[in-house]
Amino acid sequence: MSGDKKRIPIKEKMWITKSNGEARLLGSRCPACGELFFPIKDSGICVHCQHEGLETVELGPFGRIVSYTAAMQPPAGGYYHGPVPYSFGLVDLDDGVRVETHLGGEFEKLKVGMRAQLAIETLYTDEQGNEVQAYCFLPVEE
Ligand SMILES: [Zn+2]
Repeated sequence: MSGDKKRIPIKEKMWITKSNGEARLLGSRCPACGELFFPIKDSGICVHCQHEGLETVELGPFGRIVSYTAAMQPPAGGYYHGPVPYSFGLVDLDDGVRVETHLGGEFEKLKVGMRAQLAIETLYTDEQGNEVQAYCFLPVEE
């Protein structure tokens, strides 16, 4: 075991952690039509108006749960090594963009329409002892 345990994101460029410790998702905004996208569009092209040159913007941290389900097995792709079952759903950010996300908290207490806040969670610890992190949304009181 090395002593250099790191926190590494499960995917790059999904979020940033600000100096005050708060996380924000990273998305793209079209300067021509104002359309927002999450995650960042690597093509840099707006699918709404075909404008080239999207800007990277910070999104969140608040939104509303629009649907959710319990995933009984890991998603395809082999990158997920977190706990199963887990809650998964869609959150409409106050910014006006819909995000697919892992949902924290107790599944039985989730409801459509609930407020939720962005959080960064540790999914698992890899072979090197690094904490592999992902974004999720936690239900919050209104
Ligand atoms: Zn556009």
